[in-house]
Amino acid sequence: SKELADNSFQFYTPEMHANSVERLRLETELRKALSRDEFVVYYQPKIETSSGRVVGAEALVRWRHAELGMISPADFIPIAEETGLIVPIGNWVLNHVCEQIRAWRDAGQPVVQVAVNLSAHQFRQPDLVERVEEALQIHGIDPDFLELELTESAVMHNAESAITTLMELHGHGVRLAVDDFGTGYSSLSYLKKFPLDKLKIDRSFVMDIDTNPASAEIVGAIIAMGHSLNLEIVAEGVENDAQLEVLKGLKCDEIQGFYYSRPIPADTFSGILRLGRMD
Ligand code: C2E
Ligand code: CA
Ligand code: CA
Ligand code: CA
Repeated sequence: SKELADNSFQFYTPEMHANSVERLRLETELRKALSRDEFVVYYQPKIETSSGRVVGAEALVRWRHAELGMISPADFIPIAEETGLIVPIGNWVLNHVCEQIRAWRDAGQPVVQVAVNLSAHQFRQPDLVERVEEALQIHGIDPDFLELELTESAVMHNAESAITTLMELHGHGVRLAVDDFGTGYSSLSYLKKFPLDKLKIDRSFVMDIDTNPASAEIVGAIIAMGHSLNLEIVAEGVENDAQLEVLKGLKCDEIQGFYYSRPIPADTFSGILRLGRMD
C-alpha cells in the first residue's frame, strides 16, 4: 500500500520464485520475526453507510523490521503461505486481536467487531476451530466481536470439510465473511450452503463504480442478492466521494477504504472509537 511504499524493501519479487537462496533467507527472517515479536496489527475502520458510525475494523498485519522499517503484507504473506509460516503468523494475529479487544473493553472503550483474515493454509489446519476457541477463551472475548474473513478459493478448495469447519466456527458465535467477493469462484451455490454473515465486494468492482456502469450493475446485483440471502454487504477500497455516493444509492451496508481511513495503529483507532464516527 501507498503508506508503506516509501520505506518498503522489495522482499518478494516474481524473480524470487526461481531464487531459492532468497526465499530461504526470507523464510529464516520470518521465523526470527516471529520469535522477536516483530509483527504489528493495524486496524482499518468499517463505517455503516446509513449512519456514518464506525461499526468495525479489519485487522491487517505488518512487519516492523529493525533495519527496513514497516513491511507490507504483500511483501511477505506469499512466502509465508508457501512455507506454512502463515499458520503461526495467523495464530499470532488472532491472539493479538483478541488481546486488543479485551484491552479496549477493560479500558471502558466502546468495542466494535474486528475482522481477522484467514489464509487458505490456516483454514485447512485441523486444529483451527480449537485455536479460535482458545484465543476467545484466554482473553475472555464475546465471540460476537470476532469476524473471520475467508476468500472463496480458501473455502471452495475442499467444500465438504470447509462446511463442517464453518458450521463449527459459526456455532461458536464467530461471524464469517467472504473476502474479495466476485473474484474467486464461478459458482454461487455455496452461498446457500455455508453459514455466512457478510460479503466483502472486491476493490476491483468498487474502483470504477462511479465511471463504469457495468461495475455499478454488478455491485447492485451482488447487494440485492446478498440482502435477499440475509447477508450484510461491505464495499472495500472506497477512495472517493463519487464511489461512496453510488454505494449509498445501492444500499451497501458498510464502507471500508482510504476515503475514510487507511489502516492505522491500534492507538489511533482507539481515538476514533471514542469519537464513534468518521464524518
Ligand atoms: P485484503 O484482505 O483484501 O485487505 C485489504 C487491503 O486493501 C489492505 O492491504 C488495505 O490496506 C487495502 N486497502 C484498503 N482500502 C483501500 C483503498 O481505499 N484503496 C486501496 N488501494 N487499497 C485499500 P494490506 O494491508 O497491504 O494487505 C494486503 C493483503 O495482505 C490483504 O488483502 C490480505 O490478503 C493480506 N493480509 C493482511 N493481513 C493479513 C493477516 O493477518 N493474515 C492473512 N492471512 N493475510 C493478511
Ligand atoms: Ca453491521
Ligand atoms: Ca480481508
Ligand atoms: Ca479484501
